[in-house]
Amino acid sequence: MKKHISVIMVCMLSVILSGCNNMLDQGKELLFANKEVTQSVFAMDTYMTITAYGPNAEEAVKESVAEINRLDTLLSTGKETSEITKVNQNHGGKISQDTAFLWKKSREIFEKTDGAFDVTIYPIMKAWGFAGGGFHVPAKEEIEYLLSHVNSGRVQYVETNRQLSLPQGMELDFGGIAKGYTSQRIVEIMKEHQVKNSMINLGGNVQLLGTKPDGSLYRVAVKNPENDGSYLGIIEESDKAVITSGGYERFFEEDGELYHHIIDPKTGYPAKSGLSSVTIVSSDATLADALSTALFVMGKENAVDFWRENSDSFDAVLCLDSGDIWITKGLEKSFVTEKSVKVIDKE
Ligand code: AMP
Ligand code: MG
Repeated sequence: MKKHISVIMVCMLSVILSGCNNMLDQGKELLFANKEVTQSVFAMDTYMTITAYGPNAEEAVKESVAEINRLDTLLSTGKETSEITKVNQNHGGKISQDTAFLWKKSREIFEKTDGAFDVTIYPIMKAWGFAGGGFHVPAKEEIEYLLSHVNSGRVQYVETNRQLSLPQGMELDFGGIAKGYTSQRIVEIMKEHQVKNSMINLGGNVQLLGTKPDGSLYRVAVKNPENDGSYLGIIEESDKAVITSGGYERFFEEDGELYHHIIDPKTGYPAKSGLSSVTIVSSDATLADALSTALFVMGKENAVDFWRENSDSFDAVLCLDSGDIWITKGLEKSFVTEKSVKVIDKE
């Protein structure tokens, strides 16, 4: 009888203890569920800040910073030992999986945008001093000559052995797409660590994972291209990349004229399309980055046509030199502003 009572007591004790353990586990989960980890890093010529929430946030952010540095080392034209520098010096070669992914995506967007996005723009970037330093307006003849080496359609790529061949004089620059790809990779890392809420800010190019931990939408400010510290408006979103291109981001002045870093591959000169900034909102960050550059080059009319043909994959905020703001239909609810805005419809 005594034996039975002690067996029952041991059983009760273990039930109570396992209950306590469960409560402890739940308590721990609750305690760390909203744990915020933020880290800043300078890479790809810009300040980047990564914020993540949850019990695995610390490890995920650490791995993300390592990934940023890895991709910077791989893709930076400014680094002598980067893969891209070697590819440019050797007119091609076997490329890594990351570079292959970027090349294929860049080539696809080159075709889709009728050449407005062209990563073979590098010789022109150097001529203007946007790469390698020494800002100046190049001679017309130099631009004409270098333009003969700008054409992604002439690059050969064999997928089976990831072999890339660049014609003589041609060089690649992933500056218009690399940051989007980097934030895409970070989201993959966050997901591998079961992080559900994160905001990745790569020098103003923002990628959102989920919502804020309290379930509310993230609020991403879109800068006024006037560069006066004010905003055009706020985009309220979750799970999206919000990526902006504008002439105000990098430019120099010569003889009273401003020259910026987004080049029209058809002319070799900074694009004068009537747009002062383009913001793309998309769940594909790599696409968003390339399209922000491409639509800036295209100008409003072509950008609107392009959106109408591809409205399932992105939305856009177009700011014109005149100051007028146009947004595509999908942003009607999420773009919050006190300024007057015109909405672009599907037809
Ligand atoms: P973003 O700030 O994303 O518009 O990228 C601008 C960068 O993209 C420049 O600094 C160049 O490295 C590169 N770039 C400039 N013009 C083009 C173009 N038309 N197509 C592709 N990349 C470009
Ligand atoms: Mg871009």
